[in-house]
Amino acid sequence: MARTAKVSRRKAPGGVKVRERVDLKKNDTVKVLAGRDKGKTGRVLSVDREKSKVLVEHVAMVKRHTRPNPSKQIKGGVAERESPIAASNVLIVCPGCHKAVRVAHKVETVGDKARRTRVCRKCGASLDKKA
Ligand SMILES: [Zn+2]
Repeated sequence: MARTAKVSRRKAPGGVKVRERVDLKKNDTVKVLAGRDKGKTGRVLSVDREKSKVLVEHVAMVKRHTRPNPSKQIKGGVAERESPIAASNVLIVCPGCHKAVRVAHKVETVGDKARRTRVCRKCGASLDKKA
């Protein structure tokens, strides 16, 4: 198993990094499509748009061996933590149809402001909580 897979940085001809847009937000429920935790669903804890990686609750758990450091209140031992996985390996779970779906965008006009919301590509339900 490739545990230390290199992060491939794709570059456009001009030397500018090409990044995929990450259509995920914190607290989204996502389904894992690939890797050790394939099939699991979990909540997004954080999104790293620079690296196109996400941290998903209880997914890609790793054991961290820590040395105690009393001055920093750090207890020693083995702690389990999530590790970031590629955002392309997860899909958002639609609250409307409960399927792992790709994200479409809809522009809504609220008053005189245009707001871009994420919607389910299958059933059209909004993926953004009303804010
Ligand atoms: Zn849906």
